[in-house]
Amino acid sequence: MLRAADIARQVAAGELAPDEVAATYVARTKAHAAQLNTHLHFDADAIKSQVEALAKRVKAKEALPLAGVPVLVKDNIATRGMPTTCASKILAGYVPPYDAHVVERLRAAGAIIFGKTNCDEFAMGSSNENSAYGPVKNPWDLTRVPGGSSGGSAAAVAASLAPLALGSDTGGSIRQPAALCGIFGLKPTYGRVSRYGLVAYGSSLDAIGPFARNVEDLALLTDVISGHDARDATSAARPPTQYQAGLAARGGAKGIKIGLVKEFFAEGLDAATREHVMAAVKVLEGLGTQVVEVSLPSLVYSTPAYYMIATAEASSNLARYDGVRYGARVQEPGQSLKQMYRRTRSKGFGREVKQRIMLGTFALSSGYYDAYYAKAGRAREVIRRELADVFTKVDLLVSPTSPTTAFKLGEKTQDPLAMYLSDICTLAANLAGIPALSVPCGFDHLGLPIGMQFMAREWGEETLLKGAYAYEQASKWHDAQPRL
Ligand code: GLN
Repeated sequence: MLRAADIARQVAAGELAPDEVAATYVARTKAHAAQLNTHLHFDADAIKSQVEALAKRVKAKEALPLAGVPVLVKDNIATRGMPTTCASKILAGYVPPYDAHVVERLRAAGAIIFGKTNCDEFAMGSSNENSAYGPVKNPWDLTRVPGGSSGGSAAAVAASLAPLALGSDTGGSIRQPAALCGIFGLKPTYGRVSRYGLVAYGSSLDAIGPFARNVEDLALLTDVISGHDARDATSAARPPTQYQAGLAARGGAKGIKIGLVKEFFAEGLDAATREHVMAAVKVLEGLGTQVVEVSLPSLVYSTPAYYMIATAEASSNLARYDGVRYGARVQEPGQSLKQMYRRTRSKGFGREVKQRIMLGTFALSSGYYDAYYAKAGRAREVIRRELADVFTKVDLLVSPTSPTTAFKLGEKTQDPLAMYLSDICTLAANLAGIPALSVPCGFDHLGLPIGMQFMAREWGEETLLKGAYAYEQASKWHDAQPRL
């Protein structure tokens, strides 16, 4: 399969017809999407009209960094004229009248919006099993989860149903499914990419980011979606990034100081994951990086702090789904307004979402606010400071992305705590707002992919990508393709 960067170059140069590219990926989608359950919306006719419009812009010699490149969009990101359900019944039938900022940018760059991907309902989950439209299957083993919440995007890119996809990451939802599906996934610094049009989950933690099968494509999509947008008050006034152009020019990983996070190599970590991440660290050392062990004792509080803050923000954000303003309404004749609200929300939200709304409402309620929400905020501040401090000594932090490889469908659905605890390696980056990515670094004895996580200081994506690129050039794991 061609890389996104090559498709864009060849289409823009008139060497490759965009309808040929689209036909290849439409055929792959038709062959595999149903089995994997990756797509919540796919419309071959709409793709055709996008391709026709693009062909004209190519002829007019417009500068199009993603000319003709199929890009999938997680279904919690607004797309004009295409359903956006957040994999929830409560948004069934909702078609946004506007595009998210990132989708505007994709269209301007000449990308073809290839469909909307399945995910955990409102992005709440780590396995994709909380989707109202059924779980996504891991392309490496159809009896296993792809990770979550952006499981559809990750599985689709792993299965080459599109070269690129967007996901959202509130506590690991890009990096963890990237790891479990054997591809690259990046969560940018908070504020790097506008959240305008991203359906809010935990607003102080949410970030949109890219999935790709190689680092150049990951950098390319990051460049297209990043940049200031006045419609998101937390969007940073920074110039657009130029990571793709810098990759090869920037030189190797020599001189990068790497910290191994001791706490993330503790009990509960799969032996194969430990082994492969440590082997990858040896490779990085061979490339001229300096590796030291670092201790970040407060990271053990990431899970309770995150699940307090995320559920509190979610309980407030999800108050807007009332059966009046968006999507589905459940109403019986003669019902009062209040009864209608109650029925709509009881029937419209799934179990996990309701559980979190209740948890978050409780954490914010008077009498408990200080004990839970305020305390979680203080823990967050300690974690943030501890990370800022360690980044005065090292440039990158390395750890596993997930303590285990893909687990069986149904294995953790009855045990929410076990599910929450599996997020341990990814939550701190969201609490601190720093960038992080996942890189494929091996396979376990069952042939399931393993991911290694890099974290960097605020606005340090360049170092992340430099490290990932150097490792990619020195390894072969990312070349493997699942057999479908
Ligand atoms: N698994 C975490 C949660 O359920 C993270 C999800 C996310 O990043 N959207 O909240």
